[in-house]
Amino acid sequence: MNGIHERQIERPELSAVIPVFNEQANLESLYERLSGVLSSLAASYEIVLVDDGSADSSWTIIERICQMDVRVKAVKFARNFGQHVAITAGLDHCEGSAVILMDADMQDPPETLGELYRKFKEGYDVVCAVRENRADPIYRRVLARAFYVVFKLVSRIDIPANSGVFRIISRKVVERLGQCPQRHKFITGWISALGFSQAVVKVRRDARQAGKTQYNFTRLMRLAFGGLSSCPSAVTGSKAGTESREGPVYCIEKTMNFRGQC
Ligand code: UDP
Ligand code: MG
Repeated sequence: MNGIHERQIERPELSAVIPVFNEQANLESLYERLSGVLSSLAASYEIVLVDDGSADSSWTIIERICQMDVRVKAVKFARNFGQHVAITAGLDHCEGSAVILMDADMQDPPETLGELYRKFKEGYDVVCAVRENRADPIYRRVLARAFYVVFKLVSRIDIPANSGVFRIISRKVVERLGQCPQRHKFITGWISALGFSQAVVKVRRDARQAGKTQYNFTRLMRLAFGGLSSCPSAVTGSKAGTESREGPVYCIEKTMNFRGQC
C-alpha cells in the first residue's frame, strides 16, 4: 500500500469512447441511435467524443449536442493526431465501469451493443466484435489480413480475426492501458497484448452511414506502420509496461461537460 487512495467517484455504468474526424454527416444520428441503445442497456452512461482535428463542422455539432445533453462529453484536439491517439485521449477522460470503443460512422451498428454487453456481463474483461460480413472493398480486406499476419509474426500477439475497434473493455483494462508507457498505442494490439479474459461476439457490419472513409492508401500504410512500431513486445524488444514513459502525444484545445466544468 502506498497510502494513496483512489478518489472515490461515482462512475457511470457505461462509457462510449468515439474518435471523430470529419464526421459532420454522422454525428446527429450517431447521438440519437447510441443514446437510445445506451439508455436501454445501462442505468447511467456517458458518451465521450474526441474530435481529432476535424476540418468540417463536426465540432460545432458536438458542441450543440453537449449543450443539450450533459451525458455527452467532448475533447477537441488542436490538430489531427490519428484515430488511436484519439481513442487514447478518450480512455484518459472517460469514467465508466465498462467502456465501449467504436467508430463514429456506425459501420458497427450501435444496436448490436446489447449482445456484446450481455457477453461482457458474464465476467469477461474484453468482449470484441468480430464481423460476420465485411462491408469493406476487397483491397481493404486483403491489406487488413496481411497486417494481422505480420503483426502476429513480429509481436506474437493474436488479435481476433475480423475484429476492428468495436468492443467493450472493463475499467481494469482501461487502467492497465493507462499505465502502459507508450502514449502512441495501437489500441487493439495493446489490449490483446495485456492478456485479459476475452470473448468474441459475431455481429453484422454495415456500410458507413454517411461521408467517406478517412483512410486512403497512404493513411492506411501510416496506420499499419504506426501499429507495428508501437506493438508491445518483439519489435521494441521489451514487454508491455517496461519501456520508459513518453510524454503526452496529443494536444487538447478544448473540452466540454467533464467533471468540474460547467
Ligand atoms: N478517425 C479519427 N482520426 C483519423 C481517422 C479516422 O479519429 O485520423 C476516426 C473516424 O472519424 C472514425 C474512425 O476513426 O470514427 C474510423 O475511421 P474510418 O471509418 O474512416 O475508417 P475505416 O472504417 O475506413 O477503417
Ligand atoms: Mg469506418
